[in-house]
Amino acid sequence: MKYDSIIIGMGVAGIAAAIYAKRAGNNVLLLEKERPGGILNIIDNIENYPGFKKISGPDLSLQMFEQINELKIPYKIEEVIDITIQDDLKIVKTKKETYQCNNILIATGRSPILLGLPKEEELIGKGISTCALCDGTLYKNKNVAVVGGGNSALQEALYLSKIVKKIYLIHRREEFRAEKELIEKIKSSENIEIIYNSQITNYIEENGILTGIEINEAKELKIDGLFIYIGYAPKTDFAKKLNITNPAGYIEVDKNYETNVPGIYAAGDIIIKKVYQIITAASEGATAAIRFSRKN
Ligand code: NAP
Repeated sequence: MKYDSIIIGMGVAGIAAAIYAKRAGNNVLLLEKERPGGILNIIDNIENYPGFKKISGPDLSLQMFEQINELKIPYKIEEVIDITIQDDLKIVKTKKETYQCNNILIATGRSPILLGLPKEEELIGKGISTCALCDGTLYKNKNVAVVGGGNSALQEALYLSKIVKKIYLIHRREEFRAEKELIEKIKSSENIEIIYNSQITNYIEENGILTGIEINEAKELKIDGLFIYIGYAPKTDFAKKLNITNPAGYIEVDKNYETNVPGIYAAGDIIIKKVYQIITAASEGATAAIRFSRKN
């Protein structure tokens, strides 16, 4: 099947691009591996997106998805595994089908980075989580730790503080990189204890369930759950052979969000940039779509 444009990823950037492309008369297809919303699905509270004084990530995601449905933009839940180029035509291969198009927008976002310690993978869902919004209630009135010092770690620690008994917020340095307002809220929170200059060096488990963590190869801390918020890695494995990514997997784009391969665009958290925010992802998706819609 041939489309004017295919947008890979139904996060904020992909959805914004689809809205602009469709309204410009493009025959557009959205492809998504899991579910619409991307990283929005694991954000508890958004207070910096204009038009919404306060909204949860899943609620914002739902509203964006409704807009896609109202505009009758076709989408498929299929994982893209390869992109090839035949003259001006782009071939997008998913696990189920092969599609052709003139332009592609890659907006696949990022997934959480883990600490890389032994037994980590096995303990995911058994004491280790990367989503406070999804798993927080499992730890009602229990003791948990959050690791990280950015906006995500602090924001999610604040969310958890309303559910759990006590939080140890573990950061490897002496200063947080999160916004000042968040740091102040964390410092005035009664059930959050900040542990600076510390790294988790081992997981302690009993019968496959996390029971504690070792800190700085010395101290042991008993906890029921650990939430990891140490940043995200771009999801661009399927695009590696196009030579559009840097060694870390982020895509390089020009001011129109086009890569060095004509007709292949990228937007949102997978591109190399300074600001990773919902509002910038929306703007980048829209800018790319305006550009490629005019070409079709
Ligand atoms: P981030 O800003 O990259 O912060 C990652 C944190 O994890 C840093 O404090 C870092 O420590 C720490 N870290 C990294 N690797 C580690 C390791 N191996 N062991 C221990 N700690 C480690 O990531 P993020 O907080 O997920 O935020 C990502 C982007 O989304 C940011 O641009 C952020 O502003 C944005 N965001 C915005 C909002 C909002 O506006 N409401 C909410 C969430 C996220 P160091 O500081 O020492 O490097």
